[in-house]
Parts: sequence; structure tokens; C-alpha cells
Amino acid sequence: MEMAQPGSIHQNQGSSAPPVVLGRETRHLLGKAIHHYRLIEDGDRIAVAVSGGKDSLLLLWLLRERLKWIPARYTLVAVHVDPGFGGGASEALRDFFHREGFEHRIIQTDHGPRAHSEENRENPCFLCSRLRRRVLFETAREMGCGKIALGHHQDDLIETFMINMLYGGQMAGIVPRQPFFGGKLIVIRPLALLAGRKVEQLARRLDLPVTASACPSASTGKRIEVRRTLEALYASNAKVRGNIFHAMSSVNLEYLPPPLHPSGRGAGSLLDLWLRQAGPGSDVSFRGSEISPQSGSPPP
Ligand code: SF4
Repeated sequence: MEMAQPGSIHQNQGSSAPPVVLGRETRHLLGKAIHHYRLIEDGDRIAVAVSGGKDSLLLLWLLRERLKWIPARYTLVAVHVDPGFGGGASEALRDFFHREGFEHRIIQTDHGPRAHSEENRENPCFLCSRLRRRVLFETAREMGCGKIALGHHQDDLIETFMINMLYGGQMAGIVPRQPFFGGKLIVIRPLALLAGRKVEQLARRLDLPVTASACPSASTGKRIEVRRTLEALYASNAKVRGNIFHAMSSVNLEYLPPPLHPSGRGAGSLLDLWLRQAGPGSDVSFRGSEISPQSGSPPP
């Protein structure tokens, strides 16, 4: 475990123009997610989970850049939980954090190999992400952070929703803001409104030190299958992507059958909502959901 605090330079440094590489749309969507979902408040200390992939690196970079043009005050701590496959991500990140002056912590684990060993009878990603989440929560608490920022973008939200529906039999996903322990710790996803291709484009333009995952499960599994299927649908009709995202927070219970088994899976969520809200002439739309994903673990 390594800890370094080369000066927390991440307070508001006064307003200055956003870098040219950041288009208006990106700034707008980042700000919209932060305001609309109430993700960041003044005084927050935020642990940013950085895997070494493009999404989380861009998130860290954007959250720091934002402090230069928005009159907000929050501090950032970069946290990397190394899954133990090697591959050079820890080394590249250590250099990057030092060079950029990010307060950071790097934690070595054996989560990845353990998740792929015979000891594990579950899906490797399920166990690996559960172990990583525990370490992230502990590290955030130790470092005095009340929020953990994850790099999931809009396509991750859509894919998780589709995976849970197709293979978990449940309409649930990952949400932009998710409180734990009675709100003492809040997981936030500030890239929730940014498209995956935009994230990829920006990470490339900024020349962020992205490292390819050395995990054998990184390019296999249901997520990849669902991604390819979605891409084919998007290619056939440009509105499909936006429509799926909109549908996730625009549920019309009047036109969905009530659950067959009141005590079965999903009871306490959709059934409760249906019983509370569905009725003749009632407006049964609701927005958002705090249901945890039961399958289709989020990507690293
Ligand atoms: S793909 Fe990610 S979550 Fe899944 S086992 Fe590999 S490192 Fe863990």
C-alpha cells in the first residue's frame, strides 16, 4: 500500500477558461449530471476510483479541471485498487499521480486471481468487484472521504440495465447517486450523461496514461455481447440509444403487469411502487431507482 500527499492542489484555483479540448457539450453534460443528481457539494472530499482505464482517468482529470472554471470547492483523492494481474497500471498511475500532484493511494490486492481461482464458484467479476468495493469503502473512510466517484458513463448505465433485464429478469441498473450506510458514504457517477465514445475520444486527445486491462475476463462475458447488440441497434436507428436511457427513468406502471409473486424477486421494489402508485387515472411514472444491480456487475 502506498500513500502520498504531495500537496492538495485541488481547491478552487479561480476561474479560468476551460481547455479547448473540452467542448461545450462535455462541460454541459458533466455539469448537468452534477447538478441534476446532486452529486457534489461545497466542501466534499471525494475519493476517485481510478482503475487505469480511460473512463476513470478522464473522470479524475475532468473533476480537477472543473475546479478551475466553476466557483466550487472540493478536494480529490485518487484511489487505485490493483486487482493483482500485473500489466503495469499501478506503475503508470503512480507516475501520473506524482507528476500531476494528485493526493493518492495505491492498494495492491490479489482479488483478480482469487476471483478466477477454483475457490470461487461465482462469476469472477461478481466476486472481484465485491472485494474491490469493500476496499474502496474502507479506503474512503480512512482518508476522510464522504463520497466515492466512479467512472461509469451513460453507456455503462444502459448496458447494466439491459444485462439485468435480459439475464437477471429484473429492471434495475446503476444510478448516478447511491447512498450507503444511511448516507454516510455516497457513490457518485459524474459521467452518467456522457456517451462512452465521447469519453474515449477525450481520453485519447488528452493523452491520458491509459493501460489495457490484463484481466482474462476483461473482453469476455455478457457485457461485451450486450454492447455489440446495442451497437447494432444504434446503427439501425439513431434514436434508440437516447430512448433506452430515457425509458430507464420514465416507467409507466399502468402499462406494465403487476408482479405474479408478491414475495418473489423484485417484491419490495416494483410491487410496492405498483401498489402505491398504480390505480385508475393515477400518474404512475417515477424517476430513478436505488435498486442495486443483482447481476451484470459494473465494469472495472
Ligand atoms: S473484468 Fe474487472 S471486475 Fe471482472 S474479474 Fe477482471 S478486473 Fe475483476
